[in-house]
Amino acid sequence: MDRRKMRTAVISDIHANIEALTAVLEKIGTLGVDEVICLGDMVGYNANPNECLDLLRDQKITCLLGNHDAVASGLEEPDNFNTLARSAILWTREHLSDENRSYLLTLKREQRIRDFFAFHGSIHDTDRYILYRDDALFNFHELAKLPEALMLGFFGHTHIRVVLSMGLGIISASLMNGELELASDQVYLINPGSVGQPRDGDPRAAFLEYNEQARTVTFHRVEYAIGRSQEKIILAGLPPQLAERLARGM
Ligand code: ZN
Repeated sequence: MDRRKMRTAVISDIHANIEALTAVLEKIGTLGVDEVICLGDMVGYNANPNECLDLLRDQKITCLLGNHDAVASGLEEPDNFNTLARSAILWTREHLSDENRSYLLTLKREQRIRDFFAFHGSIHDTDRYILYRDDALFNFHELAKLPEALMLGFFGHTHIRVVLSMGLGIISASLMNGELELASDQVYLINPGSVGQPRDGDPRAAFLEYNEQARTVTFHRVEYAIGRSQEKIILAGLPPQLAERLARGM
């Protein structure tokens, strides 16, 4: 049976920023995609974890578990978190509703979705970043080892939008803007950037759209009310550096 090719919006690293999430979902609404997938870290750093999870659950968005979600729900301890991340995640744990904690505990860490694989940090390792060549190589190998070799993986965790591609054993990396046409002889690992705490110097919320039919990936940036998110961080008593970094996109 032939199935219809889908258009998917891929979002990641929302980090309890409801202003950014709302603006991104509004933009996604205008694109007419078939579904939205979230690559994890729905909570942590910002002040609205419950509002974000309520909205994601309400819109039936498929979410994967990120490292911050694992700590917020009590699955893991913040042993390798830096001071800022740790104080925010302990605040989150205290404020998370029972319902949202239970919801986080139901989430998978990685998932094959049609012709692509989705995960938070690295394949089989939620906490590991894809930053360096060895990390990329590890993930390209893991992707090839999956039951049906897939040519495309989407990941988050670094909060930096990037396209990694491999063909004939050569890995290349590019920081993308606009639209990318996927070549049929390349394997790709792609990060959409972060919705709620971008770290590539552009403070606007980031996400991407994957068109399975056209084999294209389109990168989007959306303005949102950063000042409001900053105010909420301060009012909640979270570290002020977390408010300040939003304006710098770092
Ligand atoms: Zn994150």
